Amino acid sequence: MEISKISVFQVDLPLHEGSYNWSGNKSVQVFDSTVVRIETDEGIIGHGEVCPLGAVYLPAYAEGARAGIQVLAPALLGQDPTQLVKLNRHMDATLKGHPYVKSAIDMACWDILGQATGQPVSNLLGGRYGDDFLLYRAISQEAPEAMAGKVAGYRAEGYRKFQLKVGGDPETDIERIRAVSAELQRGDVLIADANTGWLMHQAARVVRAVKDIDVYIEQPCETFEECYSIRKMTDHPFVLDESIDGLPILLRANSLQAMDVVNIKISKFGGLTKARQARDLCVSLGIAMTIEDSWGGDIITAAISHLAHSTPTELLFSSTDFNSYVTISNANDAPQRNNGRLAASTTPGLGITPKMEVLGQAVFEVN
Ligand code: MG
Repeated sequence: MEISKISVFQVDLPLHEGSYNWSGNKSVQVFDSTVVRIETDEGIIGHGEVCPLGAVYLPAYAEGARAGIQVLAPALLGQDPTQLVKLNRHMDATLKGHPYVKSAIDMACWDILGQATGQPVSNLLGGRYGDDFLLYRAISQEAPEAMAGKVAGYRAEGYRKFQLKVGGDPETDIERIRAVSAELQRGDVLIADANTGWLMHQAARVVRAVKDIDVYIEQPCETFEECYSIRKMTDHPFVLDESIDGLPILLRANSLQAMDVVNIKISKFGGLTKARQARDLCVSLGIAMTIEDSWGGDIITAAISHLAHSTPTELLFSSTDFNSYVTISNANDAPQRNNGRLAASTTPGLGITPKMEVLGQAVFEVN
């Protein structure tokens, strides 16, 4: 099988809640998502999506995804989309770095491989665990009382893991953690995600001030070294996210016992192929994971669901359903949250059909 045409589309994804706010007063109102459509000489068509969390979260931005795909696409014509590791090596030889640029292409090729073999992607990623899996709900950064006021509504939607966006003024963040913690019921789990927002002295104050609270601390500071310094001074369960972007740092963090949970975002690692490699390594090492992406619509939610559903249940800390946060649906048959849980499709490939009327005219095509 050969790739015969690559088309790229741009879709705006507004949020039901109007905006999503996190550390350092960073905020997004409308997500800029990129959908890749890959056609083959055998008539099978696959789709992928990449959606950075604005331009100041990870070293990734929406226009950069499209610019990078424009560089890669001509080199992919004639390549076999079902030979995924080989294809990834070819992408890395054509464009060094920029993992997020390759993510939607890799995702679309998994969709093709699934259709070609008659298997859902979750089967091809290793097998399906259980009927469904658990989701977390991010609580966008606001005043402490406003964030606490969101918990009951999200719980009514079935969520039991609440990821609080902190990483601001330490005293306000301590109030945020305390206010939300007061709303928790037995079985709920609280994660305070600073998204790199604290300096070390600020993080040190926060973890000491909430010592009596059952809360996970996620990515308190910018770098791995800064986070590790906080890890060593707290007994809270500890999650690393932004600073774990590949296997070398994942292995180093494991050898130092620098985290209890790691957040595997598909585009941060460069697609399903590389995220699966990290996932499988974590399974072997016994490290629990949140499986997700930076953001996205229906196509990314479908891809996340296949990687999450093929992760052993006891090692899947949580996952996410981004398609429930946004007002625009870019594909039919994407998985939908049911009582705080999600299940991957059992139909071949990713199991989605893009809504061409939503994707509109291609931004560019290569054939
Ligand atoms: Mg995080």
